[in-house]
Amino acid sequence: MLLGAIEAGGTKFVCAIGDENGGVRERVSFPTTTPKETLGKVVNFFKGKDIEALGVGSFGPIDPNINSKNYGYITTTPKPHWGNYDILGELKKHFKLPMGFDTDVNGAALGELKWGAAKNLKSAMYITVGTGVGAGAVVEGNMIHGLLHPEMGHILIRRDPSDEYKGKCPFHSDCLEGLASGPAIEERWGKKAYELPKDHEAWDLEAYYLAQALANYILIISPEKIILGGGVMKQNQLFPKIRKNVKKILNGYISKKEVLEGIDDYIVSPGLEDNAGICGALALALKSLEK
Ligand code: ADP
Ligand code: ZN
Repeated sequence: MLLGAIEAGGTKFVCAIGDENGGVRERVSFPTTTPKETLGKVVNFFKGKDIEALGVGSFGPIDPNINSKNYGYITTTPKPHWGNYDILGELKKHFKLPMGFDTDVNGAALGELKWGAAKNLKSAMYITVGTGVGAGAVVEGNMIHGLLHPEMGHILIRRDPSDEYKGKCPFHSDCLEGLASGPAIEERWGKKAYELPKDHEAWDLEAYYLAQALANYILIISPEKIILGGGVMKQNQLFPKIRKNVKKILNGYISKKEVLEGIDDYIVSPGLEDNAGICGALALALKSLEK
């Protein structure tokens, strides 16, 4: 069975044809420009392809509520031209197919549960640390939605007293994203993140902030696996530092062996590696066929 997948990012779009086993057979990628130009390219790619469903994992905020009149919209993004844009509606004009639609990170959490690091579990979280910080969660097979969808990149965390950087978030200054995104690291230290040496103090601070967020997520959602992806997490030295801080913050309170003894297998990088996003969209396509 062939499925279509769209990873709709604020910087670039990835479109792919894959199958029900998470295999990717063909893919293209192009920069995100205007909705008209970008969706034109998307439609061209999928035209004539023999797909049975389409999944879209999108940058947000979006409206993921199937009963809402704005279901399928990218809603209040500050990204020029994309605010209040009916991306799913545009696709439906061209393709009469079942479609799945969710945040990129909710999709990635679903894909990791199906085919990746959280296979055979019932719940997982996927956190991306890149241009922004975003987190998705799937619990009992369903993506978490509510009023909107979780916006866990914007939670408030405690500052390290030595950190005088003001923060990068246009809404909250020093929320998690404001303190720990790639652009925040670069502005704080005046260097590209990938140019900072592996033993730079930047990574201790980064791990401290991410660990606070993870501890909060563990306390609130209780996921069975936490997957960390995105450009910043290419810095592998962050993983042991984050795990150590999470244990220290929780201080034995979550009395489960995953945290106490097996944290190396609990906080991990994506099993689908750089395909986590696009396989997430594939998983959304597959889920739309289950209904
Ligand atoms: P996006 O979030 O835009 O989808 P990425 O996940 O690649 O894309 O994130 C881009 C951000 O990640 C950049 O701001 C950059 O600072 C950071 N980044 C990318 N590669 C690395 C790396 N190897 N080490 C540290 N930071 C990186
Ligand atoms: Zn914020």
